[in-house]
Amino acid sequence: MALLYYFKDENVCIKYLEDIRWPDQVGCPYCDVVGNHHITPRGYRCADVDCDMPFTVLTGTMLEESKLPLRTWFTAMFLFASHKNGISSMQLVRDLGISQKSAWYMLYRIRAACVLTYRMLSGIVQVDETYIGGKYKNRKPGSVPAKAQGRSPVQKAVVFGAVEQRKDGFLRAKVIVDASAEALQEVILEMISMNSKVVSDEWTGYKWLHPFYEHIKVNHKNYDMGNEGYTVNKIEGAWSHLKAIVSNLRGIDRKHLQRIVDQFCFMYNLRDYSPGVRFVVLLKNFFDKQLTMKTLKSDEPLIDNELGIALYEIETAIVKQHVLEIEYKADKKDKTIRAVEPIGIVVYKKAFHMIAWCHLRKGYRDFIVENIKVIADTEQAFTNSDLLTLKEYMRTVSKSRRLAA
Ligand SMILES: [Zn+2]
Repeated sequence: MALLYYFKDENVCIKYLEDIRWPDQVGCPYCDVVGNHHITPRGYRCADVDCDMPFTVLTGTMLEESKLPLRTWFTAMFLFASHKNGISSMQLVRDLGISQKSAWYMLYRIRAACVLTYRMLSGIVQVDETYIGGKYKNRKPGSVPAKAQGRSPVQKAVVFGAVEQRKDGFLRAKVIVDASAEALQEVILEMISMNSKVVSDEWTGYKWLHPFYEHIKVNHKNYDMGNEGYTVNKIEGAWSHLKAIVSNLRGIDRKHLQRIVDQFCFMYNLRDYSPGVRFVVLLKNFFDKQLTMKTLKSDEPLIDNELGIALYEIETAIVKQHVLEIEYKADKKDKTIRAVEPIGIVVYKKAFHMIAWCHLRKGYRDFIVENIKVIADTEQAFTNSDLLTLKEYMRTVSKSRRLAA
């Protein structure tokens, strides 16, 4: 990859980012003073006496807290920008030799950088909705039965999309609650200028469009009949691209779907540019004020599966020493809600096990992670000050006789 040859070490990467962030003069991210700083071995220090803060080009960005080398980030972003249908965390694991957790961490942030600045759409605008997934839990892509397609939002996520018909037209898309006239009105008024010509299918949810817009209804099956050549082909073609991106993932948590939709819009709107251009846009977006760690609500990763989410939550709780609340299903009859203080995860008999101090049983217990149905961080600190470490715990139990939950 020529790009990696160019970004041969961290210093080259830093210099490149500095050129993007500070095209003219280095500015202090704390007090916004420009061109008044000392150079330090680690970066810069603000020369304003009231500020005097140390900073680097990464200060205040999503990359600031990452321990991964910039070169790894650059490679991941370039791979991301090169694959129109998206890449999975597994691909990143393979191609970059990083852990699954790092791959999730990176993909989550790269997707967050897929934000483009949009103007209102205008001219002839095609609109449509599509239905993604279902109950995301344990669902494989493509497993939605054909009969389940349609307008019912039951257990499916509805995505609204609008695309300008002209050749270089912009696409915008957003996850909405359902395909009701109310929900569609809100999103359409937000995205499309009033005097535009809006082309939709015959769904009743679009009935209100006139008199806000010039409304052209087309019949899905019969485009040629009396519609003067108007179609919704362009937006329908775009949906197949969104579905290709979705099917590349092993299922998406619904709350993360908007990020995938942002990725889809990013790729669609920059489809005529080279991967190199998309890569630079991603880098630039990392310096947008909106993309700092503070505004990216939490550092939860975009995760491809439920087990991954559970493992991540547990690992985070171990590090933060937070009490977790879980709903645990030991067998068909036995379902309990418990507060636990996790000390580690072990792999045993081809399954992940969480070892934790259980408030309910007042002792250490072994929970099969796949049987944890709901998991939540209580944000409360451990109540036990003398918990065993995982190693100490493992010494107390022989392999054959483990404690049951
Ligand atoms: Zn300053």
